[in-house]
Amino acid sequence: MEIVHVAAELAPIAKVGGLADVLFGLSRALHAQGHHIEIILPKYDCLDLSGIDELEVLEHDFSCCFQKKHYHNTLWKGKIGKIDLILIESHHPSAFFERGTIYGCDDDLDRFAYFCKASATYIQQKDSPPDIVHLHDWHTALIAPLLPGTKTIFTIHNLAYQGHSPKTLLDKIELPIASSITDDKNPEEINLLKAGIVYADAVTTVSPTYAKEILSPEGGENMQDTLHQHREKITGIINGIDYTYWNPETDTKIPFNYSATTIAIKQKNKRALQHKLSLTEADCPLVSVITRLVPQKGPSLIKHALKHTLKKGGQFILIGSTSDQDTHDEFYQLKCELATSKNVHFELLYNETLSHEVFAASDLFLVPSIFEPCGLTQMIAMRYGSVPLVRFTGGLADTVFPKVNGYGFGPPTNAAIDTALDQALKDWTEQPDTWKRLMKNGMEHNFSWNIPSKKYVALYSNLN
Ligand code: ADP
Repeated sequence: MEIVHVAAELAPIAKVGGLADVLFGLSRALHAQGHHIEIILPKYDCLDLSGIDELEVLEHDFSCCFQKKHYHNTLWKGKIGKIDLILIESHHPSAFFERGTIYGCDDDLDRFAYFCKASATYIQQKDSPPDIVHLHDWHTALIAPLLPGTKTIFTIHNLAYQGHSPKTLLDKIELPIASSITDDKNPEEINLLKAGIVYADAVTTVSPTYAKEILSPEGGENMQDTLHQHREKITGIINGIDYTYWNPETDTKIPFNYSATTIAIKQKNKRALQHKLSLTEADCPLVSVITRLVPQKGPSLIKHALKHTLKKGGQFILIGSTSDQDTHDEFYQLKCELATSKNVHFELLYNETLSHEVFAASDLFLVPSIFEPCGLTQMIAMRYGSVPLVRFTGGLADTVFPKVNGYGFGPPTNAAIDTALDQALKDWTEQPDTWKRLMKNGMEHNFSWNIPSKKYVALYSNLN
């Protein structure tokens, strides 16, 4: 099949969170099954161009109609490994993709509406039309109604981000569909995510449990009525992780490679990281978190768990990227308070290399999310033999099983995480065989894209 993906992120060149990993891993798995994959992305000025091969101009003067005027774009093509990439460089006077960031601009609605219009125009002009156009999150949802004759599938990676917009946005891309995408809660607004749900031929979300949760008022983010109306076309397909990229046996970002059969070597990574970060080089449990620090990820539970771990004699590493100044200040203050401790390390930014070292070095990996559509870090942690401790929600509930490969808790309270943490730390200290079994089970379970990608192919095939 000819499959075109359109998204706002792609690892490793434009990554904020899991969406980027999904695009990378799913595309590679689909390509390995013999399908032709093309990914369309904005040519952000902050793209990591070093990750792109054979980058060249495809079209110097590609035109996109926006606000009833024709704007000039440069279309680029390149490759990420064997995957074809199309980059849209806009020359609109607003310099939509020259902001030094992927998201977080006041005019994100305009930026991504423009991207949708340009992508749809490009797809319509292709010599051979694709069999499937796969759209990801609200940033690309408007492409579904812009391409009425094309089979489209829309994946909701996170229902919390919806693209609430004034109706006038649709005039800019000449798409008169406001009445069909009126926001369920605020009828004065339109909801761009809703365009994907209403107009795509199939809708997926990234785990079976999240697919159920979003139909309820508690998990529906005010979209449950629309989702109910379209529930026949909604399925939950759990994400995978890329087993070539995330592989402790071959990972060049970690000092000591190991596998499930040489699990004892993992300990050397812990020592190396303790040394590198000037932590006490002791045999105590190392607990970690790697996350975007946003309310979804349970920042107050993370803070509490950090203090509890230190009280119990463990060490704690937090790599947390913050885009919100208040959250940054809050965690920075805690970092300052604990500056003299040799049992804690804070990294308040995005750090890919350190994340690999931490996955390889940790004993326990926390994901105390308030909600979690799928979650990748618990799977990456397991791949590296770090035992996950999660809140049972969304995809975390679909991948972590007590007494099999990890620990968990239900209510998002300090007491609940304490109970789970105490049990895990006790097992680490007193039950080394139990611990080893949890590590091995995690490492030996197949969380690769192999199975999920086949489910996507089945879905694509059903539409054709
Ligand atoms: P989300 O998409 O909500 O951010 P996921 O668990 O699905 O959460 O995916 C997060 C991805 O981003 C993982 O690959 C994780 O390792 C990575 N990541 C998140 N925050 C950071 C950070 N501060 N530094 C390095 N990697 C990070």
